[in-house]
Amino acid sequence: MTTILPPGVTQETFDAVLQAFRNIVGEEGVLISEDALKPHRDPYAFAADDAFIPSAAVLPDSVEQIRAILRVANQYTVPLWVVSQGRNLGYGGGAPRVSGSVVVSLKRMKRIIEVNEECAYAVVEPGVTFMDLYAHLQAGGHKLVASVPDIGWGSVIGNALEYGRGYTLHGDHAASHCGMEVVLPTGDLIRTGMGAMSNSKSWHVYPHSFGPSVDGLFMQSNFGIVTKMGVSLMPTPECYMSVTLSVKRDADLEPLIDIVRKLQLNRVIENYPVLANAVTLAASFSTRDQWYQGDGPLPEEVIEKISRQPGLGPWNMRFALYGSEAVVDVQFAAAKAALSRIPDIHIEGRKYGGDTPHDKILPMDQCQLGIPSLDILEAVKWRGEAGGHIGVSPVAPLIGREVRQQCDLLGSIMRQHGFDYVGGILITPRSTLQIFEFTFDTLNESQVRAAQQGCKALLEAASKAGYGEYRSHLEHMDAVARTYDFNDCASMRLNMLLKDALDPKGILSPGKQGIWPRAMRDQ
Ligand code: ADP
Repeated sequence: MTTILPPGVTQETFDAVLQAFRNIVGEEGVLISEDALKPHRDPYAFAADDAFIPSAAVLPDSVEQIRAILRVANQYTVPLWVVSQGRNLGYGGGAPRVSGSVVVSLKRMKRIIEVNEECAYAVVEPGVTFMDLYAHLQAGGHKLVASVPDIGWGSVIGNALEYGRGYTLHGDHAASHCGMEVVLPTGDLIRTGMGAMSNSKSWHVYPHSFGPSVDGLFMQSNFGIVTKMGVSLMPTPECYMSVTLSVKRDADLEPLIDIVRKLQLNRVIENYPVLANAVTLAASFSTRDQWYQGDGPLPEEVIEKISRQPGLGPWNMRFALYGSEAVVDVQFAAAKAALSRIPDIHIEGRKYGGDTPHDKILPMDQCQLGIPSLDILEAVKWRGEAGGHIGVSPVAPLIGREVRQQCDLLGSIMRQHGFDYVGGILITPRSTLQIFEFTFDTLNESQVRAAQQGCKALLEAASKAGYGEYRSHLEHMDAVARTYDFNDCASMRLNMLLKDALDPKGILSPGKQGIWPRAMRDQ
């Protein structure tokens, strides 16, 4: 028995829908019990909240089953919500935007279809996690590295479609994909790029084709279900150096950013560095009450105390160098010379040979070499065992004064709402993507509500200041979409035009990224 029905669907019709799904995927491929549906609730919601609840989940294991599920959903006008692994923590997890949606979980589609050693890529299905891909590359003795995000249990495809990030040369996961297979909401099947040619030899080695590039339409959208994707890999480097650094003064942030920009633009640093303040790092090895037992954000003197811990500073950064040992040595010398213009900066480089067994690589250095882990989940327990977080993630130019302004403005909003300023600044050659993590105890209702309010306030302030969000929690998707307002929200008008054309019944992930089908727009 389900506790909630899809909007506008009677119990009788829903029973027929579930039976049709069972006929497609088998009895065990349709989940309706509260327990079985737990992974499709927001793991960090307050328990009594009843937003974003699925009516059922259906688990196809082939493209043909997905197409059959879409036929049923179109016939009965039942909203679906697609997830690959549903680990989208901090943004709603595996929960649907519209309560009553049937979650289509692709976790059974777990094939690693190809690993191409010569051209350094893999082709995966949506159920393949970063851990699966890593294990497969290791077991096959491949000299290839897949970029991994901080938490390794998510889907390679799901993460790339959400513009997720890692830290190797291929750390921009959306940009590092090459060639997709997609089922459109009406059930049609397409392949993007060179894959549009049925006998193409170049589907996963050349990203464009003849005519418009449409891959981007299937990222952070509700225009299709991605069933295969090519993923670029990095050849295992002869030498890898993990570099960590910390500066002694808060004011060093600006010169640090400006120096790193030049190092990135000149390709001395080619990976994707990450920058974090002291409190953020403290959350990865301690809990808040070890430093302070009071309410409200950590007082300045406690933050200073944390910053003075061995190996920490008010700002701390990590980046990687890869190549032959000679190249890595030259790059490290060049980076060190440039960064040493900041007085008292502490820089440390740890060098590993490409054949170093992975258990001999320090845990803090593993992620940049594509070794997945779950360690960072500990940071969520900053304010209690049942910890949760919501991320607000605005983008800014990689310019010292801009980053300073963003940190001051948005960090102070976090503190005004009673939160410690924790998160991480992901760096690309020209931009920063700063994740402000509202971390709370999910059992403490007032903390959960404060986080929701704080997120709203931060989003408002960020958009006023010209910082767009790169991703958002289900709850904030409409608000964020409205901030993309150029020419009277012309980009949303285009999205709606596409939605109506591609998904006339409006069944696929309604409301995702604020894109609503015609029938739900007025609500
Ligand atoms: P992960 O497990 O990597 O965190 P999810 O499976 O939770 O990723 O996916 C994150 C979001 O990306 C989903 O909520 C969904 O909107 C979208 N998504 C995931 N997989 C697909 C897919 N195969 N096709 C289309 N959209 C997808």
